[in-house]
Amino acid sequence: MVRVSRREFMGAALGAAVFAHVHQAKANDSEKKPTRYIAAYDTESPACLRACRKIVAVHKKFEMPATFFITGKTLEANTKEYKALLADPLFEVASHTWSHKLLRDNALCGPAVSAQEKREEIFKAKELIEQIFERPCVGLRPAVGFDNAFRGARDVLELTWEAGFRYVSSLLWGPDCSMPALIEAPFRYETDGFAKLWELPGHGWHENLLKDNNRWGSRRLTLWPSPMPEGIPTKFVETPRDEFEVNRIFMDKARETNKPHISLIWHPWSLHAFDPEMKMLELTFAHARKIGLVPSTYADLYQQLAR
Ligand SMILES: [Zn+2]
Repeated sequence: MVRVSRREFMGAALGAAVFAHVHQAKANDSEKKPTRYIAAYDTESPACLRACRKIVAVHKKFEMPATFFITGKTLEANTKEYKALLADPLFEVASHTWSHKLLRDNALCGPAVSAQEKREEIFKAKELIEQIFERPCVGLRPAVGFDNAFRGARDVLELTWEAGFRYVSSLLWGPDCSMPALIEAPFRYETDGFAKLWELPGHGWHENLLKDNNRWGSRRLTLWPSPMPEGIPTKFVETPRDEFEVNRIFMDKARETNKPHISLIWHPWSLHAFDPEMKMLELTFAHARKIGLVPSTYADLYQQLAR
């Protein structure tokens, strides 16, 4: 029999107790932090203005914050109108590049543009947004997004940091350029040398693809075996409620798995073409509140993470 002194025994027990306590505290901590719900809009074409008028009205009715990622060209074409719509403190205005050119290759959407064009895409929209809205523009969502975020894209990360962005939202596809984008948590670009730059991913479907609004038809978009088969509908959605039912799967799963945030990838032009009364937004916002998600913007999430 191995003899254990009382002191050793107490030390071990105390160690175990402290260990258990720390773990309990960690579990409680993560339980306490509710999942954020972030409504976000890639605002990128002339048809987005009419849509944004309706979208903003729904947000005000529900007192729902949102992040509008807007291209410089879209803002430049209607500065007064967008200022009147989006200057409300409920909203964050962030960059969706200057003119929607690709900052890195995307297997489905095309190759990256030149170094000079990348610089313009990254710097110019930020400057215009800050000039019009008179507040810092801290986030960049690149056109179309990528399945590997900006990992390994050192040139783009350097330009992004130099321009003064504090977060990017570039992880918008599932593995192997598939849909849906999985419910990934935020991370920092530490291994690429930018320890303070955050990636805040978007999730689910690019809703335009769910409705065939890009006229792509049937395409090789999903993975097999799928890491999230329940998030893949069997056909294009046909009604605002169909779309909401897809959204709900991602929102419920984010909450059940205690993710920091859930944010679906929406485009005003496409939402309006499919659902001009914005019924899907009402259903989605009501559900977010019902299941206890905390409405916020991407900038709010960044502030929490950077503390
Ligand atoms: Zn876009």
